[in-house]
Amino acid sequence: MPKANPRHPKFPIPGGPELRAKGWRQEALLRLLENVLSVGEDPDNLVVYAALGKAARNWAAHEGIVKALTEMEEDQTLLIQSGKPIGLVRTHAKAPLVIMANCNIVGQWAKAEVFYELQRKGLICWGGLTAGAWQYIGSQGVIQGTYEIFMRIAERRFGGDLRGRFVLTAGLGGMGGAQPLAGRMAGAAILCVDIDPERARKRQQIGYLQEIAPDLDTALEMIGAAVKEKRALSVGLVGNAAEVYPEIARRGIVPDIVTDQTSAHDLVYGYVPKGMNLDQVKGLRDDGQGQLMAASRASIVEHVTAMLEFQKKGSEVFDNGNLIRTQAREGGVANAFDIPIFTEAYLRPLFARAIGPFRWMALSGEESDIARIDDLLLEMFPDNKIITNWIRLAREHVPFEGLPARIAWLGHGERTALARRVNALVADGTLKGPVAFSRDHLDAGAMAHPNIMTERMKDGSDAIADWPLIDAMMLCSSMADLVVVHSGGGGYAGYMTSCGVTVIADGTDNADERLDHALTNDTALGVMRYADAGYEEALDEVAKKDVPYIRLG
Ligand code: NAD
Repeated sequence: MPKANPRHPKFPIPGGPELRAKGWRQEALLRLLENVLSVGEDPDNLVVYAALGKAARNWAAHEGIVKALTEMEEDQTLLIQSGKPIGLVRTHAKAPLVIMANCNIVGQWAKAEVFYELQRKGLICWGGLTAGAWQYIGSQGVIQGTYEIFMRIAERRFGGDLRGRFVLTAGLGGMGGAQPLAGRMAGAAILCVDIDPERARKRQQIGYLQEIAPDLDTALEMIGAAVKEKRALSVGLVGNAAEVYPEIARRGIVPDIVTDQTSAHDLVYGYVPKGMNLDQVKGLRDDGQGQLMAASRASIVEHVTAMLEFQKKGSEVFDNGNLIRTQAREGGVANAFDIPIFTEAYLRPLFARAIGPFRWMALSGEESDIARIDDLLLEMFPDNKIITNWIRLAREHVPFEGLPARIAWLGHGERTALARRVNALVADGTLKGPVAFSRDHLDAGAMAHPNIMTERMKDGSDAIADWPLIDAMMLCSSMADLVVVHSGGGGYAGYMTSCGVTVIADGTDNADERLDHALTNDTALGVMRYADAGYEEALDEVAKKDVPYIRLG
């Protein structure tokens, strides 16, 4: 039975033993589509997260997808082009059920303005990373990544945790909403600025944000007291980051860590310029795009200038993957890239071993299935400190949204081993239903994003998009259930290409084979990508785990 969804009553949370499709694989993908809407930011408009990241092109396309998933046989493959179903072809039972290409625009045309025009004509939509691929699991999807960033900084600069430290950030949206909880889990006093009071309330309602301060003075007092008492605390503040950051700097306050996760990548549908309210911005989105882009960029210039000032005074400042430095540089801030990107600064040694944001969703809708897999994880990887620490924390702090799900940064071999054991638990009835395995697109072999994931690669291969394309083709040959190639839309147009994958553990022998091939090959490619770029960690992984990388010379 689907469960009521108090946040979005029209979009119930899927679950239960009854199938509407002709098999569990099809049913699973249907539930994942329902799930991204149930946890999405604006499901009435099919928007899941990141300002414009959509689950389907429009409601007619959505209906067509639901119909196809419900009626299709196991030996068919549904083709989706930018969120619209375009055909159901006969393949074979080991082929993917769904393959998608979302928002891939030819190089010289891949610009925000061209994207907006194609979108206006109804020819394209942006899938974000995980929205269009039905893999989004709410703010939990990035929470471990955000937590691991904070902990890497804590280890390097603050003696191991963030107790007694002030973190300043902005953006409480679909992904940014993970920040207050991740900060609190790391022990920090974290202040999160968002222009939209609704977003702040939503994060508070679902348990990701503790307090909302009525004004900046109160917010700073609350943070100051928590810092003094070394007490973890998350505080939201409704305001524009382009005003609040410079004001904090003007008062001579230097936070220990500063970042930002507003939708700065999109100057029209994401970032809100200072001096404008949300209604004014909405009014300009169709007819005043040029004006809005200029105003957003001017505000981002002030926003990033304040971040640079904090950096100069000793704060640890980083870009959390929203293109804010790129926008600021285009607005004239020549040294915007003095701010490092989180991937290169903190997480690359993990990615070089293909350790990244792996996740799974209990299609039964039962939280007990996730709890059982948590136990299994602890039993299988008792010496993996990242995992044991994370599962302990996640169990205590991370509330479920939508289908119960868990994220855990696992690497080559580990993902496959876990998924196959879970498949066996589905087969013997220990779990109440099948489990879907997936990962973020921001994963070792899966993404080319030269200002985010692949910035300053050791061999200079930052902008080469062959890797996600090889990944996708390989995953189709490796029997994954859903394979997708995404490129950037809105402000990300021309900035990235990525590959996504989902495999369903339905307890069958076929699923065992799919999980084995798809998950093993996916992380093997991740190791190869970094080995090929000359990363020692990857070469070590090749040797230790017998990764079939062809090393020339
Ligand atoms: P979202 O659109 O759901 O939320 C963005 C939030 O920023 C909104 O709540 C909005 O009100 C707020 N905002 C906009 N302008 C503001 C301003 N000037 N001052 C204060 N608040 C403002 O987006 P999201 O899903 O949370 O993603 C945020 C950004 O992070 C995007 O650019 C996204 O692409 C990026 N992202 C990074 C990662 C990563 O791995 N680091 C992962 C996912 C998304």
